[in-house]
Amino acid sequence: MAGIYIHIPFCKQACTYCDFHFSTNQKLRKPLIDALCVEIKQRSHEIKEAPATLYFGGGSPSILNEEELAQIFETLSSSFDVSRLTEVTLESNPDDHSAEKLKLWQSLGVNRLSIGIQSFIDRDLILMNRAHNAHEASNCVKNARETGFEKVSIDLIYGIPNQSIDEWKNNIQRAIDLAPEHISAYCLTVEEKTVLHHQVAKNMVTEKDDETIEREFLVLHELLTKAGFEHYEISNFGKPEHMATHNGSYWQGLDYVGFGPAAHSFDGATKRRWNVSNNPQYIKAISEGGRYWEDEILTDTDRTNEQLMTGLRRHQGIDLSTLPKNHQAVIAQNLQQLNGDLKSCLWQEGEQLGIKPENWLLADALIRELMIA
Ligand code: SF4
Repeated sequence: MAGIYIHIPFCKQACTYCDFHFSTNQKLRKPLIDALCVEIKQRSHEIKEAPATLYFGGGSPSILNEEELAQIFETLSSSFDVSRLTEVTLESNPDDHSAEKLKLWQSLGVNRLSIGIQSFIDRDLILMNRAHNAHEASNCVKNARETGFEKVSIDLIYGIPNQSIDEWKNNIQRAIDLAPEHISAYCLTVEEKTVLHHQVAKNMVTEKDDETIEREFLVLHELLTKAGFEHYEISNFGKPEHMATHNGSYWQGLDYVGFGPAAHSFDGATKRRWNVSNNPQYIKAISEGGRYWEDEILTDTDRTNEQLMTGLRRHQGIDLSTLPKNHQAVIAQNLQQLNGDLKSCLWQEGEQLGIKPENWLLADALIRELMIA
């Protein structure tokens, strides 16, 4: 068993760009955590081998108090073998980095923090309605180190409206100076039904154009690579030996079990399932013994297309020889039909096919061209 994912669907406030499943209404916290623990117990038979990674995502798992986290950890350790966990990650927000919470997380066995800094500039944080400020962004890694955390990952966002290229370079440098082992950087995208979508539609906020985004991505690649980070996935950079193991298992198509509303699970072969993205429905279905998930059986074509989607976003690319023979032939044909510009974005060494890092922003378009119809 590769990993366990726990989704905590609560946040202090709604970031303008976010389309993850979360609620800012805290009233259902107790019944939801009770339901989550019931789900863990009921599905523990799916965890046939001791998992290597445990990942608390959301939402904002760092919002949870001692009692809530202790309840979840006790349920986990009484439901399956946790003795082989090597990476226990908790997504945290800088405003939750009190000395008490940091000590609590460490005492429970969390050994890696993934901190949602996003920017060191107050103007950006206010624009995105983040709950923390620039001062907390600057201090959260130091606090974590003082508590003894040895694995720290920082999240940054590029493509932020009104942020200049010099401010972006400065944000990257500030992140490097904090000496994290890992950095994830995501492009701000305008998702439907978000506040940001409304702001853009009403001309209250102007999206950055593609050329500016590309420039920011290239600067990111250059500065972090120079600083000794390996750009190992389109949005992820790690110091040697510090690539994210849990997320790596998703990209490699390994098995994982996800608990909580909106959590996904995959058996490593053909079966995928996902829980309902609705807190009241999740709680009600679990308390009444009803169904709170959907699932699907993936076809060979689905699996190949997924391998293309994840493989071509990683620096080592995809090993075409691992795909079914008939799919290899279709992909070879699709490759031949690519226009010269798109073809020049790819590299191929023997059976290994990848996208050059400087062209990763074209990954979606390239993958669409290569996928099996
Ligand atoms: S803290 Fe994270 S999950 Fe919560 S609203 Fe902001 S981006 Fe979304």
